[in-house]
Amino acid sequence: MFDFMIIGAGFAGCVLAERIANQLDKKVLIVEKRDHAGGNSYDYYNEDGLLVHKYGPHYFRTNNRQVFNYLSEFTKWYYHQYKILAYVDGQFLPLPINLDTINNLYGLSLSSFELEEFFEKVRTPVDDIKTSEDVVIDKVGRDLYEKFFRGYTRKQWGLDPSELDASVCARIPVRTNRDDRYFNDKYQAMPRYGYTKMFEKMTSHPNIHLLLKTDYKEIIDHISFKKMIYTGPIDEFFDHKFGPLPYRSLRFDFETLDQEYFQPVSQVNYPNDCDFTRIVEIKHATGQKHHKTTIVREYPAEKGDPYYPIPREQNRLLYEKYKQEADKLSDVYFIGRLAYYKYLNMDEVVALALELFEKRLNH
Ligand code: FAD
Ligand code: UDP
Repeated sequence: MFDFMIIGAGFAGCVLAERIANQLDKKVLIVEKRDHAGGNSYDYYNEDGLLVHKYGPHYFRTNNRQVFNYLSEFTKWYYHQYKILAYVDGQFLPLPINLDTINNLYGLSLSSFELEEFFEKVRTPVDDIKTSEDVVIDKVGRDLYEKFFRGYTRKQWGLDPSELDASVCARIPVRTNRDDRYFNDKYQAMPRYGYTKMFEKMTSHPNIHLLLKTDYKEIIDHISFKKMIYTGPIDEFFDHKFGPLPYRSLRFDFETLDQEYFQPVSQVNYPNDCDFTRIVEIKHATGQKHHKTTIVREYPAEKGDPYYPIPREQNRLLYEKYKQEADKLSDVYFIGRLAYYKYLNMDEVVALALELFEKRLNH
């Protein structure tokens, strides 16, 4: 008899398993349909001994000290400020757009102050910002929108930015200084020995049992448990009874090269060229030293694993229907990126899991 059955061994599932086992001394079964824990944050050493991220680059960053301290119980860190370039008009330019991006792109030599004036001149003010197109043209105008955002977004989501919530493109700031870091969070670091090692430590308590390669629906009738924590897709839990929620998927094309580095930073985006969106060389961010390097080209896909909930009004309304059903179940807790149908980063998922534990389970 288990006190909790947790569906999914990603951040949401593993954090809650750890809290329940260590703080409440209760028994937990984690059921995971893949052949490994870690969810989409899983990493592994490939046949050449390079540490790679199986499901796209996972750059850990947060401003939340509680989350950082909590994870620090299970890992040491490799501190790294992530950098990204965008290949636009034949040049590799810093992203987010900053002073150097604009000066190099247009052959100018503006100061920060002049760049503010420049943006004032080229922007297309939008009174009521609703879509991802609105949010970008309101800040930087049409030309930069076309060059950096429109093509990338159409490839990534199969939708025009005008069909997506503002929150999607609002993830990328615009700067007038020369700061070329992708994020400016206070803590930016990779688990020193990888995410998978961190998850192993997190779930090492003898009260935690991990059952891999199993869809919980196959075993639910044969295992007794008191409560469930569900971190899979919410529509799947309810057998898609209101219709399927749309997700965006990806195909990852790995290549190992006999050279130390392929590109100068861990990620180069290709908004307007090529079928892939980006090339990732995670070695820059993990700090691994190796005479070879592995790169990954990311091709967006309609079908496949549900990597991204798609933030737009009609999907949110459909999600709300499922959420109402979920709220009626007092013995099942829904949590995580797929169960919330929300574009959440890792630190946000950890924060939500810790909050769920404190508010609803820790008594
Ligand atoms: P998941 O990691 O998706 O885990 C859910 C688990 O449930 C999965 O392992 C799944 O196999 C399992 N499952 C589902 N259904 C069942 C079932 N029926 N039975 C058994 N098991 C089931 N975040 C950042 O902070 N920084 C980044 O740089 C970043 N980059 C990303 C890049 C990509 C390409 C993607 C897709 C995501 C990225 N994220 C990033 C987001 C990050 O992956 C998520 O925030 C985090 O993984 C969410 O954890 P989770 O536990 O909610 O979900
Ligand atoms: N985006 C873009 N051009 C870029 C990078 C991002 O238009 O060069 C948009 C795109 O819609 C993308 C979103 O901003 O999906 C969020 O980017 P982020 O890098 O956060 O995506 P993730 O790493 O989560 O896939």
